[in-house]
Amino acid sequence: MALAEPMVRDEHNPFEAMMSRFDRAAELLELDPGLYRILRQPEKQLIVSIPVLLDSGDIEVFTGYRVHHNTARGPAKGGIRFAPDVALEEVKALAAWMTWKCAVVNIPFGGAKGGVTCEPRRLSKRELEHLTRRYTAEIMNLLGPDTDVPAPDVNTNEQVMAWIMDTYSQHVRHTVTAVVTGKPVEMGGSLGRREATGRGCMLVTLEALKQLRIPIDGARVVVQGFGNVGSVAARLCAGRGMKVVGISDHTSAWVNADGIEVEAALAHIARHGWLEEFEGADSISGHDLLELPCEVLIPAAVENQITRANADRIQAKIVCEGANGPTTAPADAILDDKGVFVIPDILANAGGVTVSYFEWVQNREGYYWSRERVEKRLQKIMWNSFRDVVAFTESHGVNMRTASYMVAIDRVAFVHRLRGIYA
Ligand code: NAD
Repeated sequence: MALAEPMVRDEHNPFEAMMSRFDRAAELLELDPGLYRILRQPEKQLIVSIPVLLDSGDIEVFTGYRVHHNTARGPAKGGIRFAPDVALEEVKALAAWMTWKCAVVNIPFGGAKGGVTCEPRRLSKRELEHLTRRYTAEIMNLLGPDTDVPAPDVNTNEQVMAWIMDTYSQHVRHTVTAVVTGKPVEMGGSLGRREATGRGCMLVTLEALKQLRIPIDGARVVVQGFGNVGSVAARLCAGRGMKVVGISDHTSAWVNADGIEVEAALAHIARHGWLEEFEGADSISGHDLLELPCEVLIPAAVENQITRANADRIQAKIVCEGANGPTTAPADAILDDKGVFVIPDILANAGGVTVSYFEWVQNREGYYWSRERVEKRLQKIMWNSFRDVVAFTESHGVNMRTASYMVAIDRVAFVHRLRGIYA
């Protein structure tokens, strides 16, 4: 079914973009107006000031955010990002995305997101640690294994999670591993968590290729963003016989129609920190990378990469959204008209939160699973969720994006109806 172009005042405002998808799915579900009003608002929005003593002796005050969108189905779950463009609107959108993401893969969490407006590359390790610890202390009242469980996101990692876990534990006077996920394995992290989001992207890509009857062997893959999500997705897709023909990061983009050696790119990153001056592929502009001929495009960097301006030139048959919100709402309609099969972010990149859930379960039961068990259970959840969404596309005549939102909203709304309104 072709989509009418949605009403989006600002194509690049992530909250509006997400809400336009929510509105469409809610309308198709004939969602009760009261529930619609509840789900359209975040439950809590906290803005904090974070003073940090810099190595220079100066004091800088950073701004941090933590937003709970909805906790009807369980503790609020969502990552923390450190980046110069972090702002409340973005954090609100990402928090709502987490609500739908947890619901679409049917794990018992609500949605949250947090972030600090900063340029982490300019901070020393000590400054970053102080920033993280003070931010954690400032949002302490929201955090807890039963209330709010953060995870890594852009520019945050296992070390940052370890600092958050330690700061929280010092405040409550005992060690609480389950307060964050994405921790180092040695201190309660789950085997397989580091690769989980990229693995999830690979798993749903396999399903989409099968669905479209495109041979997996030799299917051309282009990956934008070569961090936690993109590099793992590229490596695992190559491992399943696909051919990675394009990669990029914030410094540069690279193309090789004969296939890029993903291991060589990973080794280059390990040596230099980014892809600039990578050998073994030709340089291309970041814009052109997205428009390369390929079977699968995995945008795994930042929001708003496929827009009204370039959607018509996308040649991929499948877009697997590793990043959150890489496609704007107006671009959805264009891709839909072109018959591009979009695996939407809330499904495509839900592998991370799924293994985060496994990590939280392991922390709480104090018993740790093998990598095989984690990967097998992740595969089951990703494939079941993909099939749930495909079933909805068939029964309601909608595309994958709308079907994912409908599945998710239906599950959250169902719990709200059962719980009622506390007065
Ligand atoms: P990361 O910081 O590890 O990597 C981000 C990558 O994108 C880096 O290679 C960076 O150089 C690149 N990049 C940044 N701007 C770019 C641009 N304009 N063009 C090309 N490349 C660019 O972050 P990540 O954890 O891989 O997250 C990437 C995306 O995936 C984000 O949207 C994040 O919200 C989403 N996501 C991450 C996880 C997770 O488990 N890490 C889970 C779900 C969703």
